Amino acid sequence: MKIMKFGGTSVGKPERMHQVAQLITKDSDAKIVVLSALSGTTNALVAISDAIAGGDREAAKRKIDELEAHYRKFIPDLVIKEDARAKAGAIVTEHFEFLNIILRISFSEALNKDILAQGELMSTKLFSVYLEEQGIDHLLLPALEFMSIDGNEEPNLPAISNKLAQLLKQHSNKKMFITQGYICRNARGEVDNLKRGGSDYTASLIAAAANATVCEIWTDIDGMHNNDPRIVNKTLPIEQLSFDEAAELAYFGAKILHPTCIWPAQLNNVPVKLLNTMQPEAKGTTIQEEAGTVGVKAVAAKDGIIAIKIKSSRMLLAYGFLRKVFEVFEKYKTPIDMITTSEVAVSVTIDTDAHLDHIIKELEPFGHVEVEKEQSIVSIVGNEIAQTPDVLKRLFDTLSTIPVTMVSYGGSAHNISLLVPSEHRTKTLQLLNAGIFGL
Ligand code: ASP
Ligand code: MG
Repeated sequence: MKIMKFGGTSVGKPERMHQVAQLITKDSDAKIVVLSALSGTTNALVAISDAIAGGDREAAKRKIDELEAHYRKFIPDLVIKEDARAKAGAIVTEHFEFLNIILRISFSEALNKDILAQGELMSTKLFSVYLEEQGIDHLLLPALEFMSIDGNEEPNLPAISNKLAQLLKQHSNKKMFITQGYICRNARGEVDNLKRGGSDYTASLIAAAANATVCEIWTDIDGMHNNDPRIVNKTLPIEQLSFDEAAELAYFGAKILHPTCIWPAQLNNVPVKLLNTMQPEAKGTTIQEEAGTVGVKAVAAKDGIIAIKIKSSRMLLAYGFLRKVFEVFEKYKTPIDMITTSEVAVSVTIDTDAHLDHIIKELEPFGHVEVEKEQSIVSIVGNEIAQTPDVLKRLFDTLSTIPVTMVSYGGSAHNISLLVPSEHRTKTLQLLNAGIFGL
């Protein structure tokens, strides 16, 4: 069984959907195809939901009509036969009737989730109509029948595996299944989702649940790159990454893959391939257990970081000090990204200011607190780089003009993280591209 996931831009136009049909029929392997909503749809649904929540039903109605018009225009280019067009039209009618009914119901969080689910429901149903018109045998597998999250909003992998296995057994005569990314049921049985960008997560969870041979993530870029193509001129796709390397990169900026989607694939050791719909022959990036090579593979930056330094002579030779500091962050459910300590100070970074004022207030009794906003973490990722002689020297030679404010080295064998003021982030990535990759 192989998993193939296509993102919003890969299904965002009728001709793209046609191309997806070609890609999934290239071989006769059994497969589960996971689709996102058409590009722009989930954003539109969020806006509709926000308008309803804010009591502006007129605005919501306008946005619903705009979105409906988009889908009405999509149909004649997607399918040609009259009966297929009628079927597609009926699907769009059904889902927009639902959205229009919602305008008259009082808003709730459960309703919000129902609204957000419409995108993936429509994209998969419309795609199924096209496959049917083309005579491509397949089955639409409703994600709401097997994808679930528990009371902590975490995917329930054993339950997902069980239900999926049952469904696949019931339809053992089929070789191609189409399902929705992103949507699921929660512990109360309501419609819910895996958070924005969650279709990658769906694909990876299904890959783990079905013990797939490969989990292919099809987007519009040819894999993960060694540096941020939006910031530096020349970047190269990385052919092979280990799960650990990919997890570091996915978190630190490389927007191409949702960070949560590494663990399920890693758990069952299913290779993840990042492939380009526009350039299907390109190698892309393969993420698997083995890293392939030793040394620096990529650098990535994450902006919007806040550094907090707590200085206290009471920390000298004291035990339990760090625990007390960490408890403050735990209390405000704020994850710490980087941490460095000296004998009398500890510096940490966080990526949200949601509870910053409270956190500072509660840290003040422990010592002198300093806060630096607008920082960026620049992460240097590669197999065994912390053990590779020369990497640190090359790194600091390359960055001699950059005012690095924090360094995290040795936390993992494949990551070195630096903190720099955000105004130096671009220069840092450019210098690293020249100094480390020779680009
Ligand atoms: N459609 C959802 C979103 O835009 C999920 C996804 O595309 O991954 O967030
Ligand atoms: Mg996406």
